[in-house]
Amino acid sequence: MTDFAATKAHFHIPDGLIYLDGNSLGPMPKSVPARMQAMLQDEWAEMLIRGWNQAGWMDQPRRVGDRVARLIGAEPGSVVMGDTLSIKVYQALASALEMVPDRRVILSDSGNFPSDLYMAEGLVKTLGDGYELRVVEPDAYPEAITEEVAVTLITEVDYRTGRLHDIAALTEQAHAAGAVAVWDLAHTAGATPTQVAACGADFAVGCTYKYLNGGPGAPAFIYLAPRHAETARPALSGWLGHEAPFAFDLDYRPGAGVERMRVGTPPVLQLTALEAALDVWDIADMADVRARSQGLTQLFIDAVEARCPGLTLATPRDPDQRGSQVSFRFAEGYAAMQALIARGVIGDFRAPDIMRFGFTPLFIDEDDVRAAVDVLEEVIRDRLWDRPEYRTRAAVT
Ligand SMILES: *Cc1c(COP(=O)(O)O)cnc(C)c1O
Repeated sequence: MTDFAATKAHFHIPDGLIYLDGNSLGPMPKSVPARMQAMLQDEWAEMLIRGWNQAGWMDQPRRVGDRVARLIGAEPGSVVMGDTLSIKVYQALASALEMVPDRRVILSDSGNFPSDLYMAEGLVKTLGDGYELRVVEPDAYPEAITEEVAVTLITEVDYRTGRLHDIAALTEQAHAAGAVAVWDLAHTAGATPTQVAACGADFAVGCTYKYLNGGPGAPAFIYLAPRHAETARPALSGWLGHEAPFAFDLDYRPGAGVERMRVGTPPVLQLTALEAALDVWDIADMADVRARSQGLTQLFIDAVEARCPGLTLATPRDPDQRGSQVSFRFAEGYAAMQALIARGVIGDFRAPDIMRFGFTPLFIDEDDVRAAVDVLEEVIRDRLWDRPEYRTRAAVT
């Protein structure tokens, strides 16, 4: 059984704050500054360019990828780190489309994060030739998987409502229809158990600054199913995905397996922070995290519904149908969230009216949930949000 007091002790949480936004940017693990400092001093400063070999910088995307692979149920050697999630979505879609050359449709749903849809739209425009992005309502997704569909792009957890797709069933259906399945695990990795290999995902992508606490700008990951490892053609054919980058050949030859999904120079500083952040998983079990997350979200939902009339639950009531966040609709949600933040409870706001709260058991416990509801009740009951300064929208909401 995971000791959640021990996992909580891994993180720096500023005094007096209840941080319910680890689903958007995880807090800093206490080990990160020393690890970064050691890397800067002992590796960059002292080794200089020798660090690529001596400190293992060049292998870091694969080494860290293997640690992420364990958290998403992927085979060793099937995950590599780099770039941002938007880029990885593009890469996965481009390779996946080529596997089904006689079809033209990418299928996604309106609960997907806009960047995934924007990247798909951009790719479709670049390809021309009748390619199409088809976006349907989440409920209509299963019946939209027809034999026209080349690629299903499924984000398991809806960033707005927290609704969880049955990604295993959708993947089975996609395969039965002859389509290739691309999974986006942005709100899954580090939050809910998933089985990329057992469920037969063809590609999976995700980010590491949310539930994996890698820090702002931490690199994304991409999984390429081993059965496609020698045939998938990388669309972003950068030199570090080449079979022999330092041969400096004029022609591109894809590297072995998922290595071909590398593009350019890895973000070594960010990967170092992420590597330190992943240590907490040595003492945390994903099934325990999931069970506790379901308990915390239920506690929050019950308390808010009892004490904050006026807020409407936007997240599925069935714990098995939600990820690790809870969203409530409230017309003055933006101002209410600012009022909460001013009182030390940090969540976030998603237009048009969603107040979003992330529950991350590695560092959030029942006392935090109860204390957060106390503040939320006060803000709503006493209309503490009703002040002009809480209505001014910042660039990041
Ligand atoms: C957070 C998130 C992103 C963000 O992409 P970046 O390129 O890392 O900024 C993309 N897709 C989904 C589904 C997300 O939740």
